[in-house]
Amino acid sequence: MSDTRDRSITIVGAGPVGLTVAALMARSRANPALQIRILEPRPIPTWKPADTDLRVYALSRASQRILEHAGVWDEIAAAMVSPYRAMRVWEGDDPFGSGSLYFDCAEIGEPDLGHIVEDRLIRDRLFSSLTDCSNVELSVGVEVAAVRSGSRDVEIETQTGETFSSTVLVAADGGASTVRELMSLPVTKAGYGQEAIVAHVESSEPHRETAWQRFLADGPLAFLPLADGRSSVVWSLSSSEAQRLASASEADFIAELSAASGGALGDLRASSARAGFPLQVLHARHYCAPRVALVGDAAHTIHPLAGQGMNLGLLDAAVLADTLSEAICRHEDPGDLRVLRRYERQRKGANLKTLLAMDALHRLFRLPGPLFAPLRAAGLSAVDASGFAKRRLMREALGISGELPRAARRHVA
Ligand SMILES: Cc1cc2nc3c(=O)[nH]c(=O)nc-3n(C[C@H](O)[C@H](O)[C@H](O)COP(=O)(O)OP(=O)(O)OC[C@H]3O[C@@H](n4cnc5c(N)ncnc54)[C@H](O)[C@@H]3O)c2cc1C
Repeated sequence: MSDTRDRSITIVGAGPVGLTVAALMARSRANPALQIRILEPRPIPTWKPADTDLRVYALSRASQRILEHAGVWDEIAAAMVSPYRAMRVWEGDDPFGSGSLYFDCAEIGEPDLGHIVEDRLIRDRLFSSLTDCSNVELSVGVEVAAVRSGSRDVEIETQTGETFSSTVLVAADGGASTVRELMSLPVTKAGYGQEAIVAHVESSEPHRETAWQRFLADGPLAFLPLADGRSSVVWSLSSSEAQRLASASEADFIAELSAASGGALGDLRASSARAGFPLQVLHARHYCAPRVALVGDAAHTIHPLAGQGMNLGLLDAAVLADTLSEAICRHEDPGDLRVLRRYERQRKGANLKTLLAMDALHRLFRLPGPLFAPLRAAGLSAVDASGFAKRRLMREALGISGELPRAARRHVA
């Protein structure tokens, strides 16, 4: 049992995962006196319907429920989300031919397979919800320069030399996490030698609230349905090809994109700039150290081919918030390594399983086409013909199977 006064949690990084930890902790009745401080080097983006945010996520049902528990899903859904009710996956020339795989939410009695949501909208709504909380303080323009973990608290020093202490430090500062580096927490990582080009396009054929994904020799190409009828393109390519296409003229880019799409959405027209994200797989060997926990991309980054990175990060946020709140309720020290390991035990194995599955899928589709394409087509057809396998895959992708943290279970108002 420990002294429960003056508990504080410092979250480094106001990305979607860090802000979700803050919102879940702020709404927890575990300890109304808990002080929450968020440190972020960059301004928090605001969302306006007319602006284009190229960073969009395919959020699972589990993520939707977590954002419901965080108190922001209804506002996000009312502002702008696009449900996707089906998903079509293929490798050859014909998106509808044999060797393609089609998932339909109706087969599992769900209204959709998830929602496409803009990063900026999630952050804007989470941030607005936190501005009303008297126990939450957000410091923007602040970078962490040093972290010293002690027996009673963790001391954080900023780049301006300011220091303060906290009971727990949550590192939600993304794939290049400074906190992870400062704490010398080792990672296993590998570059894919790939970049993802993202852009929005208009199409002559409607997207039919379907997520389309074609596996090409150089990497997967996805079209995610947007609420205004456009589609968000996520095209993973070798870095050299990605850089060539990033600087190609609009007409050349669209011509190559149209050819790569196999005509799935008819004629395409550019409707945004393009941005590129280098891709890597990374997994921290430890998710915690005394008084410090890693969440989201700070703990793991994953190939975007199945759009799971944010979904895993939000599950981390939910499990960590549960773990810390429970510890506070039991009058335990939430920064104690034994407490933080409960979080690590729940998340590390699950994340690793998804990381490895995505990595294996990525490698499978990189195997030379002439030899392996027929085998892959047969595999896709076999899965397509198996109602059981498809239903299972859909439930897993939705995050509604297996053991779930409280916040990812069905929300009861
Ligand atoms: C092309 C692409 C497509 C993707 N599509 C999907 C998808 O469809 N579905 C899905 O689930 N996932 C997707 N992902 C993965 C998703 O983008 C990440 O998993 C997610 O952004 C992780 O969120 P985060 O809050 O952990 O980190 P980030 O979003 O990286 O946020 C980290 C925050 O920390 C801040 N920060 C950085 N350094 C410091 C520092 N030193 N001190 C303090 N703060 C710092 C940053 O400014 C930022 O605000 C995709 C990724 C890519 C590259």
